[in-house]
Amino acid sequence: MTAFERRTRRAQSRLAAVGADALALTPGRDCYYLTGVDAEASDRLQLLVVPADGDPTFVVPTLEADAVRAATWVDDVRTWEDETGPGPALDPLLDTLSPSRVLLADRMWARFSLALRERLPDASFGLASEVLSPLRRRKDDRELDALRAAGDAADATMRDLRALGADAVGMTEADLAAYIEERLEANGGTGVAFGTIVGAGPNGADPHHASGEREIRAGEPVVLDFGTRVDAYPSDQTRTVVFDGEPSEEFRRVHDAVREAQSRAVAAVEPGVTAGSVDRAAREVIEDAGYGDRFVHRTGHGVGLDVHEAPDIVAGNETVLEPGMVFSVEPGVYLPDRFGVRIEDLVVVTEDGSERLNHTDRRWRV
Ligand code: ZN
Ligand code: ZN
Ligand code: ZN
Repeated sequence: MTAFERRTRRAQSRLAAVGADALALTPGRDCYYLTGVDAEASDRLQLLVVPADGDPTFVVPTLEADAVRAATWVDDVRTWEDETGPGPALDPLLDTLSPSRVLLADRMWARFSLALRERLPDASFGLASEVLSPLRRRKDDRELDALRAAGDAADATMRDLRALGADAVGMTEADLAAYIEERLEANGGTGVAFGTIVGAGPNGADPHHASGEREIRAGEPVVLDFGTRVDAYPSDQTRTVVFDGEPSEEFRRVHDAVREAQSRAVAAVEPGVTAGSVDRAAREVIEDAGYGDRFVHRTGHGVGLDVHEAPDIVAGNETVLEPGMVFSVEPGVYLPDRFGVRIEDLVVVTEDGSERLNHTDRRWRV
């Protein structure tokens, strides 16, 4: 049995446990997680139906059928033609199943979810994450290997950036982002996992700044947050550095506080504690340093096939950490019009603590 099939069988037993009869998934991360089919959602319906009992079925347009069959362990692939629409392939399947509760892909297009609701007027509907999120948030060994490899590609790129030293001064944020993306590929990654963030000086105060035309200056902090993918799994880490010259006293103080907050939060990670308690460990340090109101986001987010997934590392999240969960620990302080500081690593919850997936220097001096 492949890893994909094993996950599907586990999802099926959970379906029964939550009183649902089927999962209905259009292309996306959930569909990939269960089948290995890495397709794009499009205007032509591609639907994976996973019943609580029995084998799953794909309903796909004829022109996608070969690609789907080649990618998956799922045997039952039914096709439809542009002339008829999906009805002739889909209707008999739905008639046979006649489900009373169906869980839809969380990111299914509205046009498909509304059509399914019309097609099954007596059924009730929920979200696939009800069943899949508890599975996806605990990574198996194969997933952890991919996440480690993606982390290595990011780490190698961060070392390349530090090696630039004073040569980075005068480059624009966009130049530096292009260099990062070239190095990510050279270091074994594929593409970017999200828009590369290079936030120089005051731009660093915007946590999701899009890299632009500002030049890197001596003495000015630069927030570097980027990721790539290896075997479909992403990396995500952040360092805040000064490429040349001496930064302000306040920057040093803030950087020390953020670095301490990050290390305390990572130290707080172990099975049995709540996600919220990890957030607290980071926030406490930043509050004590006097910047509590400038730490404007959650401490972290789960990472898997999606760069943002469960569990959120946020106040009030009572999710109990379990071995195999992977998330970011990324406290930050943002002083508008001046600078920002964020330090981020991914961590895996292990049997007795945690393992970092990023290992490069966290200090500001390159
Ligand atoms: Zn973010
Ligand atoms: Zn990040
Ligand atoms: Zn992140």
